[in-house]
Amino acid sequence: VAKSQRKSAVAFFQLDMEQCLLERVLLEQDLRRALETGEGLFVFYQPIMEISSGRVSTREALVRWHRPQWGWVSPADFIPIAEETDLIEHLGAFVLRRACWDALVWGDSARVAVNMSGRQFGRQSLVPAVMAALDETGLPAERLEIEITETAALAEDADVLADLHCLHAMGVRISLDDFGTGYSSFSHLRTFHVDKIKIDGSFVRDAAKKIECASIVRAAADIGRRLGIPVVAECVETEEQFHSIVLEGCTEAQGYFISVPKPTARDLVTINIINRSEDDLFFVKGDKM
Ligand code: C2E
Ligand code: MG
Ligand code: MG
Ligand code: MG
Repeated sequence: VAKSQRKSAVAFFQLDMEQCLLERVLLEQDLRRALETGEGLFVFYQPIMEISSGRVSTREALVRWHRPQWGWVSPADFIPIAEETDLIEHLGAFVLRRACWDALVWGDSARVAVNMSGRQFGRQSLVPAVMAALDETGLPAERLEIEITETAALAEDADVLADLHCLHAMGVRISLDDFGTGYSSFSHLRTFHVDKIKIDGSFVRDAAKKIECASIVRAAADIGRRLGIPVVAECVETEEQFHSIVLEGCTEAQGYFISVPKPTARDLVTINIINRSEDDLFFVKGDKM
């Protein structure tokens, strides 16, 4: 009996793996089509507030995907898959171009921040894609920020460093995203020019409750002050959290307390049609409007 149970467990496991692989292939196919047609892909924006003035300093571009016959898929679920293929380059170029256009349309001087994963750096296509987006739209390079998420090898890779130096020379700003959670936050500060630090939400969440988190937020804010660069607290959800990050010295704040990520007015029309045509009005986690 035990043997046959084990056998069926193995069979189930294989079935699971096959299912999993198949779903990846299908997702990849759907994402490729979405990138070719532009259908179902949106860029939402979340404002980042300068605390001293209360003004919006930057809007962060966050990609959203409505997958056909499926619904809204979180970037956390499809970006890792895009990263394993050439899709991440197409996605990166798509978001860059959209973000630069939208920044011009807002008609204020706020910057726009675009996320780039470590995998996008050192791929030859990144710097040309940034140049093309700026050229096509005429957005001044100073109004574009690139947010990079830390990965283990980023700061040591010569191609990545070359890309970062090139972007910096063009006038594009570099922000360190999810500061404190990666492998090499401090090496990044040492090896390339960082224009902004974004403290990861996991520290911000408990900044009012745990001395450890408050200390880390303060330490990051101190580094920023000494370097003369802004320090953003991410994921500020409550008034209490807002007060504590101000107390610890952060200069900017981002999070649901200020605003959820929102579509542009143009996209809102399309999105309302999509949502209405579905039974449940499920939206991307947290993006209730
Ligand atoms: P991130 O760059 O750290 O972006 C912040 C994430 O926190 C976003 O999740 C945002 O919706 C969410 N958020 C903002 N305020 C709050 C808050 O108060 N509470 C909570 N719980 N969450 C908040 P999202 O949009 O799901 O994106 C997840 C990650 O996916 C991003 O993390 C970024 O690393 C990546 N990502 C998003 N768009 C792009 C893109 O266009 N390209 C690349 N390469 N990565 C992207
Ligand atoms: Mg980001
Ligand atoms: Mg972040
Ligand atoms: Mg993150």
